[in-house]
Amino acid sequence: MIDAVGLLQELVKIPSPNLPGDTRAIAAYIAKVMGDAGCDVKVFAPDIKPEAQSVVATLGQGAPVIMLHAHIDTVPIAANEAQRWSVDPYAAVIKDGKLYGKGSVDDKAPLAAMMAVILEKSAEYRVLSTESKKPSPPAPHRLSSQAQSANSPQGEEIITEGSKTLPYEENKAAIGGTLVLVAAAEEETGGVLGTKWLEESGKLPICDFIVVGEQTHNHVATAHKGVMRAAVRATGRSVHATNPDRGVNAITAMAKAVLALDAYHRELATRPHPIVGVPTCNVGVIQGGSTANAVPDSCVVYLDRRMVPGEKPATVQDEMKAVIASVDAGAATLSIGDFQTSNWFESTAVSPLAQTFLGCVEAELHENPGPIGYLPGSDAKHLTGVTRGEMIIFGPGSYEVAHAFDEYVDLGEFASTVNILRAFVGKI
Ligand SMILES: [Zn+2]
Repeated sequence: MIDAVGLLQELVKIPSPNLPGDTRAIAAYIAKVMGDAGCDVKVFAPDIKPEAQSVVATLGQGAPVIMLHAHIDTVPIAANEAQRWSVDPYAAVIKDGKLYGKGSVDDKAPLAAMMAVILEKSAEYRVLSTESKKPSPPAPHRLSSQAQSANSPQGEEIITEGSKTLPYEENKAAIGGTLVLVAAAEEETGGVLGTKWLEESGKLPICDFIVVGEQTHNHVATAHKGVMRAAVRATGRSVHATNPDRGVNAITAMAKAVLALDAYHRELATRPHPIVGVPTCNVGVIQGGSTANAVPDSCVVYLDRRMVPGEKPATVQDEMKAVIASVDAGAATLSIGDFQTSNWFESTAVSPLAQTFLGCVEAELHENPGPIGYLPGSDAKHLTGVTRGEMIIFGPGSYEVAHAFDEYVDLGEFASTVNILRAFVGKI
């Protein structure tokens, strides 16, 4: 049996903070481990960020095609955070049943669990294959990048060399289905140069079922919210504060806009989604004025509008424009713009594969397996184009301990993650 905890420790010991998002070292490690086990391994990176390497490792062939996806980048360690860690964040220290480290729960625990079950599966087939094909001729060692080179027209696949202990062609024939590990870069900065790029440039197969590894306490999540950011600007006229009525106060105008946005936020609470909660609108930053003795002529606020599945970004923009247009700003002008959208994700879990997965969770946890909502975003939103089936988010721990000092994964939970994935893979 594969030492999944040892694998997780190795992954935590390879720093992969984003920024800067250089995943070459961890990608090389994953490519070597999966390649040595007989997977067909490809390492990809976009031309505009060649150090943001992602790994796609495939075992088997044919349907069903099951993707196990986890991201390999982590958030960076902020200066004030570094002093608060009680252990070395890259030493993968185990204490009281918890493994500590940057990226331990987000997202190297699901990654290690996925790798472990694929490695186990490949070892099983190695035995089968050896038994059925004795005596087997020595297989030629194969470069995983044999199809392309760095000079190929695509120009994105990175050469990874490694011998294979199991001949891939032989291995393929022994598996009734395909397991695809996607170890993706760039999730922490939105996934545009990671999973989104992999998907749009045709590097990923069409899948019958996708598991996106994130922190759900090993429950099955089938939806997360999306985000729309925006900026609201107020413009007035600046005069000396001895006679403010001669000017136009941009902060006063913005105050009315902020109250209107707060009313909008409360109105959104009447539109709950069944599993991810309500849409929200938060005024997170306000900037305006320069001195107390002048009427300010400009003020800006930055908004974070969380969208629930089903909300159309264009409609949400129109709503926010209408909120701002409804404000009586007097002689000041108000405008809203700089919209940035990160989409929501929603799936169902009714297919036989999803039902099998839910059953594996229930058998391990002895509680309701879900579906539940997942509050942060994930790379799932970039994978809807490569699924002809359903997609879930699943993994140990909570997002609340991610992105913080003393990030950890509970090893009991991690063992359950491995057990659930192993049981699921064993049933397909
Ligand atoms: Zn994550």
